[in-house]
Amino acid sequence: MVNATDEPLHRRLLALLDVALKEDEVTASGLATQLSAPVSEVEAELRALVRFGSLTRHASSNGEARYSVSPKRKKIGEMLIAAGHMTKAQLEEALAEQGRTGERLGGILLDRGYVSKELLGNMLAAQHGIPYVNLSTHPIDEQLVRSLPERVIMDHKVVPFARQGTEIQLAMLDPTDIMAVDTVEKYLNGHVRPFLITEADFGQAVTKFFDVTRKVGESLLGVGDELRELDHAAVGVADSYDTSPVVRVVNTIISDAVRIGATDIHIEPEAEKTRIRVRVDGLLIDKAVLPRSVSDGITSRLKVLAGIDIAERIRPQDGRILVTIEGRDYDLRIATMGTAFGERVAMRLLSNRQVMVGLERLGLFPEQQELLQTLLGRQHGMILVTGPTGSGKTTTLYASISYINDRIRNIMTIEDPIEYRLPGITQIPVREKSGITFGVGLRALLRQDPDVVMVGEIRDPETASIAVHAALTGHLVLTTLHTNNAAGALVRLLDMGIEPYLLTSSVLAVVGQRLIRVLCTACKRRQSAREVDLQILGLPIDTSLTLSVGVGCGECAGLGYKGRTGAFEVMVMTDVVRELVLQRKPASAVMDAAVAAGMTTLRGAFIRKVVDGATSIDELQRLMVVEVN
Ligand SMILES: [Zn+2]
Repeated sequence: MVNATDEPLHRRLLALLDVALKEDEVTASGLATQLSAPVSEVEAELRALVRFGSLTRHASSNGEARYSVSPKRKKIGEMLIAAGHMTKAQLEEALAEQGRTGERLGGILLDRGYVSKELLGNMLAAQHGIPYVNLSTHPIDEQLVRSLPERVIMDHKVVPFARQGTEIQLAMLDPTDIMAVDTVEKYLNGHVRPFLITEADFGQAVTKFFDVTRKVGESLLGVGDELRELDHAAVGVADSYDTSPVVRVVNTIISDAVRIGATDIHIEPEAEKTRIRVRVDGLLIDKAVLPRSVSDGITSRLKVLAGIDIAERIRPQDGRILVTIEGRDYDLRIATMGTAFGERVAMRLLSNRQVMVGLERLGLFPEQQELLQTLLGRQHGMILVTGPTGSGKTTTLYASISYINDRIRNIMTIEDPIEYRLPGITQIPVREKSGITFGVGLRALLRQDPDVVMVGEIRDPETASIAVHAALTGHLVLTTLHTNNAAGALVRLLDMGIEPYLLTSSVLAVVGQRLIRVLCTACKRRQSAREVDLQILGLPIDTSLTLSVGVGCGECAGLGYKGRTGAFEVMVMTDVVRELVLQRKPASAVMDAAVAAGMTTLRGAFIRKVVDGATSIDELQRLMVVEVN
């Protein structure tokens, strides 16, 4: 069981200790026998664990020391609960996810937003008894990092960030990894002083020093030769390709995008060069500019992987690539098309990982959340979520579904594509090629006796009509529509041929939403509002108000923003709204009536988020410009 000799001793020992120390003390010789390893090596490992505070050493009369778990070493989850940072239920959910994915607990807690990076770091530091270093704000000695082979940094997840005399300050994800300490000491010729970092820190540091531009530069050598071969022997390229420069560049581009949390990768040919850009938090960022000769090879490689015709460079094609990066599976949807300067490629990165955001984390104001929860408690009717592409509509639907998932109702979805897997819920993908459109799929799904139905998107009159009838016949229907605001959705459905009286008796509410960028908490500053700011906010110019701005720091890659949150308007089908829809009044009239009844508009939500300090006045202006266009 523990005899897999290809595993490093450190890991095998930890696995063994995990079991053996639950009830008993252990000795070095006892462990060495079980591991078939030299006693001296096991002892060295145990001494390191004592040094890191994980184990306590007890001297004994016969000379052989015994080791037990240090009483001060508590589990990180329990520490967070004890300190009131997290609930027991949250820990259990996170542990269940860890059981499924095998990822680190800390990373899961961060992803779910239960703890901040700073808090996690400090808790881990307290647990291990060694200091935490925030690498995104702490200076890093670049030369020192570069003097360690990338392989060592990646394998052991360590970053040497400073040197003082013979002391090497080493940021480590696992400070008990004595192999890492040995290796780094050997390479850098000094004595390691361990510091703790979080997985997020490590990812950021790695992105900074081993980013795509540099890697691409290193990998360029030899690409030209390869391309000549490619032209002549397009078939069978995949097999002979695995260690080639093009493959390395492609891998770097994809894994770099994943690491910085990008949702899309664009390869855009221009007259002389090709630009590679990625979308992070909704905006495109330049990653690299490559010579055309290189990008052609990259495009061909991607097309081979996606199983699409590499000889076809003009007509649009689409395909998908399944990749595993750092233990996580990704589904890359790739679309190509010919442009004036060559073939353009867009890739969308979908993670198979379940990232479930609760209603409370969407960005709804408390009164909006309460309203939505009341509506989701209804047995039948339709709730529409509207907004342009990339406004977070699907996330809102998933959060709503998981809010009402009580396991005593049959919840079914039809989606294109399925972005997250929801446990306990039947999800059906749209398969246009097999004739399963939204309309066909929805009709079939309704014969499966569902209580709650989620329709990924209403795109056509047929789907609209089936969805409305489902809502009228005892089903709760959740769906999205591509319109600019809540009132527009009702008009759009009328345009799709839905009778006004059917609409007013089926729709419960329409939620309009956008995603706004959130100011980076690490570099956010307060400053008094200027006259021009107050004008933008529509406030009297003598108002005294402080606003927040992002300065830009290592944590947010200098952008001043990190992550996004939703801004919402929730329009309920009140009697007044109903009357206006029955009279087929324009969207503006419906909107005015809803506002008169007290609805917060999207614009109002933006402003409130600026005043609350969640985002900046610049972001508000950017959003307003987008709205006008
Ligand atoms: Zn920042």
